Amino acid sequence: MIRSLKNTRTLLVSICCIVALFCALPSTAAAASDTLSPAEVVEIDRDLNGTVIEFEGEAIGEALHADATHKWVNVLGDGMAVGVYVASDSADLVGTFGDHRHDGDIVRVSGTINVACDEHAGEFDVHAERFEIISQGEVRETPIQPWKAVVGLLGVAVFLVEWRFYGRLKERNLA
Ligand SMILES: [Zn+2]
Repeated sequence: MIRSLKNTRTLLVSICCIVALFCALPSTAAAASDTLSPAEVVEIDRDLNGTVIEFEGEAIGEALHADATHKWVNVLGDGMAVGVYVASDSADLVGTFGDHRHDGDIVRVSGTINVACDEHAGEFDVHAERFEIISQGEVRETPIQPWKAVVGLLGVAVFLVEWRFYGRLKERNLA
């Protein structure tokens, strides 16, 4: 009896240890990943100006000419976009840019953050050192817009009411 109680206690302690270990794991995993969203980049601690950061987001709009060897790619996430100064070769890897009809490629950027870039008229930008496509974009499915169906049905209803009303007028005139 005493022996089995002791065994139970040992078992409980082991379970507690395992649970504690699992609870500790996610925070360790989160600390290991420093990938930011564009919104977090825009609101980044100004003390990190000039340091290398890593972030992920959707390439939107189009690649704009920057200079002979570089382009600008806007990277969007959480409603904010960051201008990324990137080697033309890398910018050309983007197959789909996001717009109202496309979900753009998701890119991972690693580069130097410039809160007020000396090279680019004091712009807030990131000079990419690494720029990779992590998932390809696609044509966005055109969602069925419920309001259009409602407007259509209302139109039919108005037509029917008028038609009946007109029909009655006609009956009365004939009578
Ligand atoms: Zn710059």
